[in-house]
Amino acid sequence: MSPFRAAATAVSAESSALDAEIASVVCSLCDRYGIDSGRVYVTEMGGFRGGLGNAIPIPVPFRRIYLVRYHRCIREADPLALRGLFAHELMHVLQYSRARYSDLSRFIVRYGAFSATAALKTSFYFDWVRQLEHLTDLMAVKFGEGESIAAWKRFKADATTRGIIRDSWDHLYLRDAEIDSLAADEVNLGLRIGRCVAVLRAKDSLRPFASETS
Ligand SMILES: [Zn+2]
Repeated sequence: MSPFRAAATAVSAESSALDAEIASVVCSLCDRYGIDSGRVYVTEMGGFRGGLGNAIPIPVPFRRIYLVRYHRCIREADPLALRGLFAHELMHVLQYSRARYSDLSRFIVRYGAFSATAALKTSFYFDWVRQLEHLTDLMAVKFGEGESIAAWKRFKADATTRGIIRDSWDHLYLRDAEIDSLAADEVNLGLRIGRCVAVLRAKDSLRPFASETS
């Protein structure tokens, strides 16, 4: 399937039911996060060893666009879990949209090095990626997506149990019970966000994290 542009598909009568549902969810989350949905392209990916989705910045001349990919098994997900997947991936898009070009190249190098060595027990940039993945979930929860993020994690755990994806990477991500508890505790949520930002800032000064605690 070729990538479809979320903003265009949401209003197209020719799109498939799933494309239209995804486009509608993506546009609604973009509105909530303050992202230009006209820059977000969505596509299905084939077999994937790691997770159920990812988000990639594509710096085209004078215009930055974002590719959000999802595993085909999300066709089986309920609407809440589907929303949770895109809530997480679009939070990455928000981080990319706040980044300078030099920051983006660091994102790409670090995730690339992490993925290339992910089969090893000690992957390059593991701690950096782990903190950023935690922050990504926590920021989505702060935007009111606690229920959907937790539903997506339960769907992911089930997909792992059924062998649809190889590994749910529990050592990298927050679990559904942690999300449920943080969504109900604004003070603790703020503290956890602050801690993630402090760790990420101690490693470097990427601009996307400059305002997360304000
Ligand atoms: Zn992520």
